[in-house]
Amino acid sequence: MHNCLFCKIASHEIPAEILYEDEQIIAFKDISPQAPVHFLVVPKRHIANLMELTPADNALIGHIVFCAQKIAKNQGCEEKGARFVFNCKQHGGQTVGHVHLHTLGKRNLEWPPG
Ligand code: 5GP
Ligand code: ZN
Repeated sequence: MHNCLFCKIASHEIPAEILYEDEQIIAFKDISPQAPVHFLVVPKRHIANLMELTPADNALIGHIVFCAQKIAKNQGCEEKGARFVFNCKQHGGQTVGHVHLHTLGKRNLEWPPG
């Protein structure tokens, strides 16, 4: 997708601290971490937000979630857990229009969000 930040990271046009990558997905550290562990898992194919997903994306989303789980475990979050979240559009607080799963860990996070 033209001029999409996460498409550019997925194609290595813009650098990022990459934690995992395969043909379908890429995981990288958030540039403005809100917790000691904060990374994003993103499909390489441009999908604007969670509302755009279809049943054909079931396996892709499962792959994204499982990737986040594996990295979270590798980064020491298994025992105490983490926050796994998809922000979606305006009310969800989404700022980058390419679907991404946040993982935040290694500190206590409040609920509900402000
Ligand atoms: P959203 O607000 O859309 O749920 O999350 C977008 C996330 O992308 C934010 O946490 C923000 O810090 C992160 N982000 C924005 N620009 C960049 C960038 O250029 N590189 C990386 N690695 N993360 C970014
Ligand atoms: Zn994109």
